[in-house]
Amino acid sequence: MILKEKENINIDNLLLEISFYKKSAKIDLVKKAYEFSKKAHSGQKRISGDDYVIHPLSVAFILAGMNLDEETIVAGLLHDVIEDCEVQEKEIEQVFGSVISRLVRGVTKLGEIDFSVYSDDLQKTSESIRARNIESLRKFFLAMAEDIRVVLIKLADRYHNLSTLGALDLDKRRRIAKESLEIFTPLADRLGIGKLKSEMEDLAFKYYLPEEYKKVVQSTKKAFKEREEYLLQMKESLERIFKDESIEADIEGRAKHYYSIYKKLQKKDGDIEKIYDLFAIRIIVSDIANCYKSLGIIHSKFKPLIYRIKDYIAVPKPNGYQSLHTTVFGLGGKITEVQIRTKKMHEEAEKGVAAHWFYDEFKQEKGYSEHKSSFAPKDKIHWIEELLEWQEAADSSEEFMEGLKIDIFKDRIFVFSPKGDVFDLPEGATSVDFAYAVHSQIGDQLVGAKINSKMKPISIPLENRDIVEVLTKKNSPGPKQDWLKFVVTRKAKNRICSFLNRK
Ligand code: MN
Repeated sequence: MILKEKENINIDNLLLEISFYKKSAKIDLVKKAYEFSKKAHSGQKRISGDDYVIHPLSVAFILAGMNLDEETIVAGLLHDVIEDCEVQEKEIEQVFGSVISRLVRGVTKLGEIDFSVYSDDLQKTSESIRARNIESLRKFFLAMAEDIRVVLIKLADRYHNLSTLGALDLDKRRRIAKESLEIFTPLADRLGIGKLKSEMEDLAFKYYLPEEYKKVVQSTKKAFKEREEYLLQMKESLERIFKDESIEADIEGRAKHYYSIYKKLQKKDGDIEKIYDLFAIRIIVSDIANCYKSLGIIHSKFKPLIYRIKDYIAVPKPNGYQSLHTTVFGLGGKITEVQIRTKKMHEEAEKGVAAHWFYDEFKQEKGYSEHKSSFAPKDKIHWIEELLEWQEAADSSEEFMEGLKIDIFKDRIFVFSPKGDVFDLPEGATSVDFAYAVHSQIGDQLVGAKINSKMKPISIPLENRDIVEVLTKKNSPGPKQDWLKFVVTRKAKNRICSFLNRK
């Protein structure tokens, strides 16, 4: 669990935790913020009956868990004081400076956005509310592109609220849970904060789909129990093997989270036997060379299933995730997924690549956004900037919303160019979407496509890890009206429309 036991949630432990990952942290500032927040919230209670300050303090712990800088943690401690305590932004600026007050204001503004327009049937909402909410959503992404830390605070806030959701009435619980699954967990995923994402999903899943949640818990109970014993044996056997080979490795078993089992079950006709990665063995070694060496050793002892070896070290997932994955016939022929990674990769997968953006030495490095107030590496927030670009171009609010749903919140696949470049596309994307993602001219000149070296119709949806080769002709007739029926990305749609209009 990301959250500490209640009795351990206090300011001294928070300061201790920060000092573990940042020796030079401004501890006094964090302490001052805690006192400020405690005073401002004094007399206020959470619905659970706890003193209110336990909430901002928990949020600060979650942020510290992501190894964020003290400005973010201070803003986390203060995130509710403008909204709930009538503290003026000016006062925060005087006491804590302009960066922190800007962060707090940012989180407060995000709190004003009603996302229900996204979730609910657009037709049911009145025109004016709809327009206002869509405008808020635009602001949300604008805030995100400006300073990603605002969104990280919001995610931590949402995580803690979800963990105390039991105290609210049913309707409210369901609404918050739904919104979390539709907006916040996909965001956490795109930001590569794996642990927060999957724990948040399970928290929300329980309240949003209580029946389905129970079913998944029930149906995995037996499998989990059987596997526990097996994983222990497998772990011991691997530990012996690694000792013989003199490779130092941390080996642990890991169970898949309920919500991702639920989503996978829907794709596998509800058959739990078909989920091979219900459990995985995770091997953590010192460096990349040892990752590949470990893979070789494992394959020499346990036969791998072909086609299930994935090298996310050479080709990281778009959100930065790195590991080697393989699936082998383990002890007694049991099919077992094995994940191999370095310690650093492990930390990043759990805490989010956000963690190391904030170390000063990283900020100095080249390639980081020159945007004055942006605190993220350029390639990591590239998609946010792209989003803002076309939101400006979008004709109407509806168009913007539609694009959002597909480009941001849909599950992503990633595919390769024949040269091995990775492209991150929404599920359902076709060769045409791919072509336009590469370059608009390539889209305009497309005459056919090879998927995994075979000619395929350009209208069929691509699968994860397909290699797509676009065939182009300089004097091709150009995109056809028909294409609009199957392309899914905003970019492809826009380019095709503008080409047709030009004609
Ligand atoms: Mn809050």
